[in-house]
Amino acid sequence: MRRMLLEGLFRRPVTEEAPAVADAELEELAARLGAVARARLGRSLSIREVDAGSCNGCELEIHALNNSYYDVERFGLRFVASPRHADVLMVTGPVTANMREGLERTYAATPAPKWVVAVGDCAAGCGVFRKSYATIGSVSAVLPVDLVIPGCPPEPIAMLKGLIGLIEASARG
Ligand code: SF4
Repeated sequence: MRRMLLEGLFRRPVTEEAPAVADAELEELAARLGAVARARLGRSLSIREVDAGSCNGCELEIHALNNSYYDVERFGLRFVASPRHADVLMVTGPVTANMREGLERTYAATPAPKWVVAVGDCAAGCGVFRKSYATIGSVSAVLPVDLVIPGCPPEPIAMLKGLIGLIEASARG
């Protein structure tokens, strides 16, 4: 027992090193996204995440945007519980038969202007679930997709860059 306690005190953590993204890059990206959202919407950006059938790997990276390392809420980017409060739907996974109606209803409940972001290779093209009996197709088979963020899973920084491009493009259009 004593040996275990001593080992616990002096052993290095077994967790991975923090991502090698410079704080400056993260702050610049998140602040830029907050600014373009305010210019386009007159307020900060609200995001609703929808899991249409993912393995939850993409969710882990999306959740990371809220952890103490990325902490994007300090720039005014918020994840909301209801699609009625959302500007962006970030959809992960291929769409499963059981989630099709839920996804359609979530989209219908989101007020315009709204954008749909397909997050990850499964959302973009069904990925590893392409041959699953439960999969009916990619997100674009059910909803109009405005942006695809590829990766398995994509990194949080790629999500921030994608959202900036999307909101900037919509402001120009
Ligand atoms: S893209 Fe990869 S991490 Fe995301 S849901 Fe598919 S298999 Fe999982």
